[in-house]
Amino acid sequence: MTAASPPADGKPPVIETDVLIAGGGPCGLMLANELGRRGIRCVVVDAKPSTAFNPQANATQARTMEHFRRLGFAHEIRALGLPADHPTDIAYFTRFAGHELARIGLPTAAEAIVQIRSMTGSWSAAELPHRVSQKFVEEALRRHAQAWPSTDVRYGWRLERFGDDGASVSATVRPGEGGPAQEVVAKFLIGADGARSFVRQQLGIEWGGVTGIQREFMGGKMFAIYLRAPQFLSVLRHPKAWMYVAVNHERRAFMASVDGMAEYAFHAALRPGEDADGWTEADARRVFAQAVGVDVPMEILSMGTWLAGHALVAQRFQKGRVFIAGDAAHLFTPTGGLGYNTAVEDAVNLGWKLASVIRGQAPLALLDSYEAERRPLAQRNTAYARKFADSVGLFVAKPELEEPSERGDAERQLAAQYFNEHARLEFNIPGVTFGGRYDGSPIIVGDGAPLPPDAPNVYTPTASPGGRPPHAWLDDGRSLFDLFHVEWTLLALGPNPPSTEAFESAAQALRIDLRVVRLPQPSLRELYAAPLVLIRPDQIVAWRGGDAADAVNVLSRVTGITQSLTPCSDSTAPSESRRTNYQGDPA
Ligand SMILES: Cc1cc2nc3c(=O)[nH]c(=O)nc-3n(C[C@H](O)[C@H](O)[C@H](O)COP(=O)(O)OP(=O)(O)OC[C@H]3O[C@@H](n4cnc5c(N)ncnc54)[C@H](O)[C@@H]3O)c2cc1C
Repeated sequence: MTAASPPADGKPPVIETDVLIAGGGPCGLMLANELGRRGIRCVVVDAKPSTAFNPQANATQARTMEHFRRLGFAHEIRALGLPADHPTDIAYFTRFAGHELARIGLPTAAEAIVQIRSMTGSWSAAELPHRVSQKFVEEALRRHAQAWPSTDVRYGWRLERFGDDGASVSATVRPGEGGPAQEVVAKFLIGADGARSFVRQQLGIEWGGVTGIQREFMGGKMFAIYLRAPQFLSVLRHPKAWMYVAVNHERRAFMASVDGMAEYAFHAALRPGEDADGWTEADARRVFAQAVGVDVPMEILSMGTWLAGHALVAQRFQKGRVFIAGDAAHLFTPTGGLGYNTAVEDAVNLGWKLASVIRGQAPLALLDSYEAERRPLAQRNTAYARKFADSVGLFVAKPELEEPSERGDAERQLAAQYFNEHARLEFNIPGVTFGGRYDGSPIIVGDGAPLPPDAPNVYTPTASPGGRPPHAWLDDGRSLFDLFHVEWTLLALGPNPPSTEAFESAAQALRIDLRVVRLPQPSLRELYAAPLVLIRPDQIVAWRGGDAADAVNVLSRVTGITQSLTPCSDSTAPSESRRTNYQGDPA
């Protein structure tokens, strides 16, 4: 519950809260969940009347699903969107009703739950990705956020002013439907207010990176239609998919199934000289028919334009008590499906840190690690998205691709090979989703172990501090991740782990909520390459070691109480092998 101070001069009472969140998209709502579950007071304001009407993002990556699992509602999210038995294939066609060129088959939602239990290597995980429109995820995130007594979620309210006096942030929020403005005083303000972030602009934070990248496809203006076409599947000459991509010389397009039945999110690239801002419904029908190859009746639910070709990361993620997160802090071309997922992980990273500081368990300095950890991650992920966009978008479709001739067959064969390779590059990305690391963070106690290379399509589990803990299924069928505490976890692994007492008493002295989880299986001790492993509330390895002698130092360091730690072996620089260096990387 937020506290309201008494009315003065007939104005509505000032709302006093811990965190004011501007923006109720996936980032703001996820942050409200992270804070709400910890009993931290927050107010979320979003200028829109409700959660997104348009489908927006289509893919929830596996790491995001693991976070939803941690919060207890992954199963609910997996039931949203497509029916459980609907394919989630990505298929490439000349036109949707034309020649099929390439396809990557991926499990249905029902299969994903079964298959993940026996998957190993790169896909040893608690969750597989899920294909679901962001609009459905937002509804679920909102429902869960609102259920916490300490959260106050308000759609139809815009943040219109704020000021940071060093001790708190004061702000004015105004209801869109009229009525008096409301003053809010918060300990912190988070700008999760999207690509045109008012908060970022007010702070004077500039973008870094690149924008305006031009490509045949996924570089330049795009025309989007959210549509209903119940007869679409009847014109397909090939098995149905989840994502349909049209590759022909006339117009490139992609279309994701929203409900597995009649609704689709269609996006077409504009040709040079076209100005879609003035396009009518007749234009929308013409462009849709071009991509399908035949006329299919359709109802337009909404339409508009957007710009592909960004790989932007804000120069700063924080100024004083104000932070930016999600699209406000980084802007992607949506190849690889990384924008919303990166936004969710920003919220996960910020959530436990804000809670620790607000509860008085950690100093303000802990919050500096948010930018130190998330900005390099945003640079990494925008670079990956850019690489995927180059791969799919720089392919030039010749007119012969659709020719009923030997020359046409040869062109289609070339395109088939190209897109079969591309699909596996963009849509099988365990390395991107699980391999993000916080090496160099001031609150990670690195151990200098050699790290596997950062590669998009391969994830090599490592318990080296700074990354996702390796996953394992336990003999009793539970996921190791389900044993992690909601706050800090100390794993004591193997048949004879060292005493954990020093950690337990240090945690008590520092008021850190730590749970010791003992797992005698030698295989886990081997997987983590250490008998003691400290896992953060956001399921990141913070430290690992052979004894608990340094417990006070370690816990002080990982909660930001101390900024350096001498007794521990600590290599905070990322190893050479981990550095990604794509051409033009905004880093
Ligand atoms: C066609 C397309 C496909 C995409 N596909 C994917 C995908 O498959 N996977 C993926 O990960 N990402 C994808 N994305 C990107 C994804 O949609 C965004 O990255 C995601 O919405 C970012 O979430 P957010 O919460 O940071 O911002 P937003 O979702 O933009 O939310 C910001 C909110 O802030 C509110 N707001 C703005 N200003 C104010 C203010 N002053 N006061 C109060 N509220 C305010 C807005 O109303 C908005 O609701 C796609 C994007 C597009 C365009």
